[in-house]
Amino acid sequence: MPHFPANDGRPAWQALVLTLFPEMFPGPLDVSLLGQARAANIWSLDTLQIRDFGLGRHRQVDDTPAGGGAGMVLRADVLGPALDHAKSISPDAPLIYLSPRGTPLTQSLARDLSEGPGVTLLAGRFEGIDQRVIDARGLKEISIGDYVLAGGELAAMVLIEACVRLLPGVLGAAESLASESFETGLLEYPQYTKPRDWEGLSIPDILLSGDHKKVAEWRRRQSEQLTAGRRPDLLRTTRTSK
Ligand code: SAH
Repeated sequence: MPHFPANDGRPAWQALVLTLFPEMFPGPLDVSLLGQARAANIWSLDTLQIRDFGLGRHRQVDDTPAGGGAGMVLRADVLGPALDHAKSISPDAPLIYLSPRGTPLTQSLARDLSEGPGVTLLAGRFEGIDQRVIDARGLKEISIGDYVLAGGELAAMVLIEACVRLLPGVLGAAESLASESFETGLLEYPQYTKPRDWEGLSIPDILLSGDHKKVAEWRRRQSEQLTAGRRPDLLRTTRTSK
């Protein structure tokens, strides 16, 4: 695979997705700032069709669950060679299986991954994948939330978008990242813009005062109150993590 140098000479951050539905990509990842960043080779996106590694004339990729039960399971002897091929394309990227059983995707995990060479993502379908592939290839399982999707593709897109927007040069103002929800361990304060009065509702006076110190204090307090009310769990994790 060609290795595109990014604008500043760094190699592009590489996303490689193993999927039965490559036609879903780049999809929403190609609009706006992420699309521009890909055109500028700040990051790259490739897909591998799992069915290309399928068995026999019908390129079979799945089979019935051992022990019985509903649905189909993606086969280890299909995914193993597919993952090995992915490894030859992108040798240094961590191998990740999107899975509802995985480590929850957080802002700090997205930041860690964005600071690496990229990601190789396996999108499951049906009932999921044979456990032996997870064990034998050391797949890291990541979940995007406590609900079940029909496939890993949207989860892969969520992970990619969360990482790519953190890459240097993708967002306009670097400052816009600093105060965002989770970056400070808190939820973001409320934002306002023009007009000053709308449907009888006005912007809080303090934001129009021009007093930067007071504005910063107000925002901090708002962030703390919002977080305490809506996500007290975040206050606990901020204290215990880095
Ligand atoms: N039977 C599985 C769910 C399979 S859903 C279970 O109960 O755990 C089919 C595929 O969708 C999975 O293989 C996984 O790749 C993807 N998927 C579903 N929910 C997800 C989530 N919350 N996060 C990440 N991937 C998910």
